[in-house]
Amino acid sequence: STQIQLASRPTGWPTHDNFQTVQVTYEAPKPGQVRVRNEFVSVDPYMRGRMNDVRSYTPPYQLRERITGGAVGRVVESSAEELPVGTVVLHQHGWSDIIQDDAASFRAIPEVPGVPLSLNLHILGMTGMTAYVGLTAIAGLKEGDTVFVSGAAGAVGTAVGQIAKLLGASRVIGSAGSAEKVALLTEKYGYDAAFNYKDGDVRGQLAAAAPNGIDVFFDNVGGDHLEAALAAFNDGGRAALCGAISAYNETSAVPGPNNMSNIITRALTLKGFTLGSYLHLAPEFQAKMGEWFPAGKINYDETIVDGIENTVDAFLDMMRGANTGKMLVRVTK
Ligand code: NDP
Repeated sequence: STQIQLASRPTGWPTHDNFQTVQVTYEAPKPGQVRVRNEFVSVDPYMRGRMNDVRSYTPPYQLRERITGGAVGRVVESSAEELPVGTVVLHQHGWSDIIQDDAASFRAIPEVPGVPLSLNLHILGMTGMTAYVGLTAIAGLKEGDTVFVSGAAGAVGTAVGQIAKLLGASRVIGSAGSAEKVALLTEKYGYDAAFNYKDGDVRGQLAAAAPNGIDVFFDNVGGDHLEAALAAFNDGGRAALCGAISAYNETSAVPGPNNMSNIITRALTLKGFTLGSYLHLAPEFQAKMGEWFPAGKINYDETIVDGIENTVDAFLDMMRGANTGKMLVRVTK
């Protein structure tokens, strides 16, 4: 099998030299093991953080070990009764075409006719749930709220806009990095207004899109977007700090909020979260999504790169904004 490992720790933007592709051969599965052929492999912004050797909520990737992360595949050989050949599984073994490991490290998931397996890696899975948890448990979204979403055309962001509307937000505003993405936000994802942050003046563009201020900020970007949100907040505003991608590949601090006193004078709440601490809300999320999705209330996009050998490019392209919705690698052979 082909697997991708971290070869060295990047400084700033990763390059191909930071990764190595390694061929691995497996013996027949031992008792209790299965062999899984991946169909889709996820590339995610948080992986950049795990390439650094720093203390965080997930341990750093080790050098010369496979990059682990979300993937969905199918059992092709089995020595474990509970996962027979053909079972579709979700797992965290990451960047490889074939994975062989203990059955307990894979989770069987239902194969629903008409529902692509890839959706388990975004709208029906981790990124969809991140959007739901951020809006509800973290930001305490209320009916009638005006919501601002940064990184709005990505995997989490496209879910946030739609879920906010379904939960009763009155106005949802999104920011993204191209004219095409901005158009998609209002045409497909239920955003009431959207702007291109690359046109500059995030604070001014947000103020124009939210003449009555914002109540909730779902932040995927940090930096200038957090700065703009602090200026736009109404009294009692709440921010779910989900990500700060504008800083992930920078070697020096990005310009950020300089109006921190608004946190005091407007009684704002800014709360960071990582989904791993909210997995107890999975049944609630699945119940809601289990109503919305079959009813056709949830749109999604995926940008698919073919071939496990192109995973590093998919990851880097995602960090640069080449994706609309979720960036995924499809394992083709
Ligand atoms: P996305 O699908 O949103 O892909 C990343 C996007 O970030 C790109 O498409 C690009 O879009 C945008 N971007 C890149 N650089 C910048 C920049 N300097 N300023 C503004 N936008 C930028 O990824 P995800 O949906 O998977 O993740 C979105 C965020 O959510 C990330 O910050 C991630 O770390 C966080 N996250 C947090 C979780 C948690 O548990 N807290 C769980 C999952 C994700 P554009 O073209 O618009 O620039």
